[in-house]
Amino acid sequence: MAKKQFKAESKRLLDLMINSIYTNREIFLRELISNASDAVDKLSYKALTDDKVGIKRKDFRIQLTVDKAARTLTVSDNGIGMTKEELEQNLGTIAKSGSLQFKQEMDKAEKGARNVDIIGQFGVGFYSAFMVADRVVVRSRAYGTDEAWEWKSDGADGYTVEPCGKERVGTDVILHLKPDTDEDKFSEYLEDYRLQELVKKYSDYVHTPIRMEVTKSRQKEKPADAGEDYKPEYETYTEEETLNSMVPLWQRPKGKVKPEEYNQFYREKFGDWEEPLCVIPTSVEGQLEYKALLFVPSRAPYDYYSKDYEKGLQLYSSGVLIMDKCPDVVPDHFSFVKGVVDTADLPLNISRETLQHTRALHIIESNVEKKVKAELLKLQKEDREKYLKFWKGFARQLKYGTVNSYGAKKEVLQDLLMFPSSAGEELTTLSEYVARMKEGQEAIFYLCAESVEMAKSLPQAERVLDKGYEILYFTDEVDEFVAQTLMKYLDKPFKDAASPDALPESEEEKAESEKKSEANKSVLDFVKETLGDKVFDVRISKMLRSGAVCLSAEGPMSLEMEKYFQKVGGAEAPYMKAQRVLELNADSPAYSALSMAVAQDPDKAKKYAELLYDQALLLAGLPVEDMAAYTRLVCELMV
Ligand code: ADP
Repeated sequence: MAKKQFKAESKRLLDLMINSIYTNREIFLRELISNASDAVDKLSYKALTDDKVGIKRKDFRIQLTVDKAARTLTVSDNGIGMTKEELEQNLGTIAKSGSLQFKQEMDKAEKGARNVDIIGQFGVGFYSAFMVADRVVVRSRAYGTDEAWEWKSDGADGYTVEPCGKERVGTDVILHLKPDTDEDKFSEYLEDYRLQELVKKYSDYVHTPIRMEVTKSRQKEKPADAGEDYKPEYETYTEEETLNSMVPLWQRPKGKVKPEEYNQFYREKFGDWEEPLCVIPTSVEGQLEYKALLFVPSRAPYDYYSKDYEKGLQLYSSGVLIMDKCPDVVPDHFSFVKGVVDTADLPLNISRETLQHTRALHIIESNVEKKVKAELLKLQKEDREKYLKFWKGFARQLKYGTVNSYGAKKEVLQDLLMFPSSAGEELTTLSEYVARMKEGQEAIFYLCAESVEMAKSLPQAERVLDKGYEILYFTDEVDEFVAQTLMKYLDKPFKDAASPDALPESEEEKAESEKKSEANKSVLDFVKETLGDKVFDVRISKMLRSGAVCLSAEGPMSLEMEKYFQKVGGAEAPYMKAQRVLELNADSPAYSALSMAVAQDPDKAKKYAELLYDQALLLAGLPVEDMAAYTRLVCELMV
């Protein structure tokens, strides 16, 4: 029988497992039980809609069997089983992202980047069997077939799959334990007490009974003719026992569950190696009754911002899993929430389509939204450091959530947003900003730039800062869209600090600036003519204090939006241009030089105009159109 090779990635993982000197090997049992439990769930789900399955929920079992003489430990289930193809596919390749992630972490650890307890933190799956066994045999018969197959592997050099006999549907995973060495006593996994302990520790909530024949001892009955000096005698006997308590965590009153239990449950169930940031146990009574256990992860999963990420909560109906990731119970803007929902108010054999239109799910969704929001706001108030950790991972999601669906969710999300600001190093919330607003300050000011440093150096904002007003720095391209969507926060409008009309003008100021423009008309016209259609207009700036030039935009499209549209591309991108206004500071020395040149040396004045425009582009973080011409210009002006 020809051996088949493992896929390359799987082989590497397998090597790690075989050669593991890891002290936490015991988790192999958890992994195998979890696979067995999944297989049971799959078949019991089928049984709900298909009478032919013929097994009742209460008849599902996971069985542990020990054979001390043969040194084997067998984990059996009467779940869905695997076909020949599935055996090859599932056990010959890394099936799960968890395993892959594990491997990546191991690679990092090998390079010395991390030195943490990695294996224990992962769902590493089936391969972990090779940490304790030197031969693994899997016998499986898939539901709906009458043939069974045996998958066998001694480790890294491959596996074989052959037909075998198996009476019942399900899977047996037989571990031939490695021989004991001085350091490692693999035979501990043949001992009742050890297996009982491991099931309690890792698999207590598995809702299928995990059964094992346990050896016990009892006092023999006292013989009728026993004399005065009778000493009790003992005998051993065996008895099938259920090792797990099976009561799911979410069904227990929250005061009775320790934080570690919640954390462990989260890590195991959702394959995260970090503790959750918040745990939200919920019990709702009334018209619709359900229990939910929600978690906010500490950081975004690696695929969170990709299309592979699937949001959703595990949906149970009276403790029976009916959907692994039910998307309808979590709103998009909180798609990071993980957890379970268990309600008796859903029929078990409900189809996915009907489920979507069930009112119950909408009620749950809106409660989940409320709960998560409240919990996050509480965190923001009471544990800012933790909240910032959350913000780091999920800011984008909340910002996009605000902008999406035309701001329908702004009430839910606006208080969760945070921005860097001119008030200090810390990020601020909008309500904190408003609380700090000065007498007479009418708007919430913001300034768009690629970074906080760049924002701080933008000359346009000086006059707003001079007034003692705080400015929010919008360094994320979506930020400005967020402000546009919100329009107002607590009745205060958002205003671009870099816009000429950021501050209200008095009649005198208006007259003053008109006078100034009039007086400088010839220079402005000259510059406008030189630059042609590169600019929409050239003006004397009301904004600049120390700088000589800046760029602003007239109309609804800002420069930042233009940048954004250029970046995301698309067929329309070239036409999505802001109307650029070159603003000149009439009081700056550069302007004096320009104005003198316009009068005396128009050729030079043209060069000055070009140069000032290029500088304005650079300050705005926009590309200078012709770099070569620009450098030539600077050199020419130097001589
Ligand atoms: P996963 O993390 O996906 O469980 P594993 O490596 O543990 O990864 O298992 C790979 C796949 O093999 C599983 O997703 C499942 O499809 C299948 N499998 C493993 N054990 C069993 C079992 N006892 N019964 C049925 N299928 C199983």
